[in-house]
Amino acid sequence: MTAAAYKRILLKLSGEALMGDDAYGINEEVVSRIVGEIGDVVRLGVQVGVVIGGGNIFRGMKGAATGMDRATADYMGMLATVMNAMALADAMRRNELEARVQSALRIDQVVEPYIRGRAIRHLEEGRVVIFAAGTGNPFFTTDTAAALRGSEIGAQIVLKATKVDGVYTADPKKDPEAQRYHRISFDEAIGRSLAVMDATAFALCRDQKLPINVFSIFKPGALRRVVMGEDEGTLVHS
Ligand code: UDP
Repeated sequence: MTAAAYKRILLKLSGEALMGDDAYGINEEVVSRIVGEIGDVVRLGVQVGVVIGGGNIFRGMKGAATGMDRATADYMGMLATVMNAMALADAMRRNELEARVQSALRIDQVVEPYIRGRAIRHLEEGRVVIFAAGTGNPFFTTDTAAALRGSEIGAQIVLKATKVDGVYTADPKKDPEAQRYHRISFDEAIGRSLAVMDATAFALCRDQKLPINVFSIFKPGALRRVVMGEDEGTLVHS
């Protein structure tokens, strides 16, 4: 068996990734495909933590724009991530992949609370740990939760799954000349004002010297290639 480049990874999946081409919610077919991709890397012996977003269901900013109290709207956003986490864990169970959901907000009847030591134990036992409810605090995002949980569990890299297969010099949908960065340093990304993750998440990864690989979850085999250390998407490094 060829060795993977990383032993432990933190995969950030946006809520939109679960939606596919639908306008809202969870597309079962898409979820099942993503689970298949995750299963492939688990079978390589890689320990996988997942931070899941909630944008396919609810975003705090959007709620606040309609006049809702921002913190209330953010808590609703965090609850949306719990639903996504449960859907993902259930799809994993159906695909014979062991998974546990840990929530940053306590909902003990539904999922485990986030307990760092227990999360690490699950990972060591080969279970996928899905971190729900972001950081548990309003005014943050699940990108920041990914940087935080990645740092806490000692992940060697954060894999940010997006719709685009990396970071480009310009928007590839608008500019046919846009070039993909294969590798870029944190400082260079800041210098070029590239939005790799939100600013808080990016700063935390940079401080912790936690590399980020941006890639497309919709490209078959891309997740596996990133984990094998191949040139896939964009690697942001110290
Ligand atoms: N959220 C929050 N604190 C966190 C993480 C998320 O308040 O630590 C809320 C916020 O309202 C956000 C929503 O949960 O809009 C969904 O998360 P996010 O927008 O990051 O999801 P994604 O864009 O990845 O689907």
